[in-house]
Amino acid sequence: MNPSAPPAYRILVVEDEPHIAQGLVFNLEHEGFAVTHAESGEEALRLLESAPVDLLVLDLMLPGISGLEVCRRSRRRYPHLPILMLTALSRDQDRIAGLAEGADDYLAKPFNLEEFLLRVKAILRRAQRQNGAAMLAAVYRFGDNQVDLQGARAQTPRGGFDLTELEVRMLELFFAREKELVTRQELLQKVWGMAPDTETRTLDNFIVRLRKYFEKNPARPMHFRTVRGRGYRFYRE
Ligand code: CA
Repeated sequence: MNPSAPPAYRILVVEDEPHIAQGLVFNLEHEGFAVTHAESGEEALRLLESAPVDLLVLDLMLPGISGLEVCRRSRRRYPHLPILMLTALSRDQDRIAGLAEGADDYLAKPFNLEEFLLRVKAILRRAQRQNGAAMLAAVYRFGDNQVDLQGARAQTPRGGFDLTELEVRMLELFFAREKELVTRQELLQKVWGMAPDTETRTLDNFIVRLRKYFEKNPARPMHFRTVRGRGYRFYRE
């Protein structure tokens, strides 16, 4: 596994045209996503039932149950599942109906693969921001580390270990806010539930611990960086 790969988001591609499906699956996998493919709406609904995904890429023109119907049913059953629709360029009414059924975004065929990948990443970023760490795939990867937030377990080049509840809460917050300033006050409030004006060494000690766990060189942190006098920023690489 490429250590700099994005977290293994799971994507279900629903597309009946084999050459388009192959192209999408190949390119998504190349980007590090875990991809499953369904050739029909029925198969898509069955797969969704058996394994949750982080994004549905849905062609509207399908044999059997239409893409619109799949969109409607998925939206009802999985209200937070992001949906990217693929439509025929000429079919304005499909696009409008799809958006009305709760699709988050659409792309008209034929589309540029690069644009497709950008849309996929944008939707996932948005979903992650909206739902916080709940949307994160089960295993989050950064640097040479893997963190399973639900299982409270970390795997680093130094070995595997359990995480405390506070560590999980803190990592959750950092992962959901990659590259953004997370202030000391916010960390104290959200992780410890303390009044924002409390000053404490506990937080500093905590950051020291995270760096010892996850940084190649804890004295020169790459992931958990200090923003002087304000807080921290988390970087995946
Ligand atoms: Ca089709």
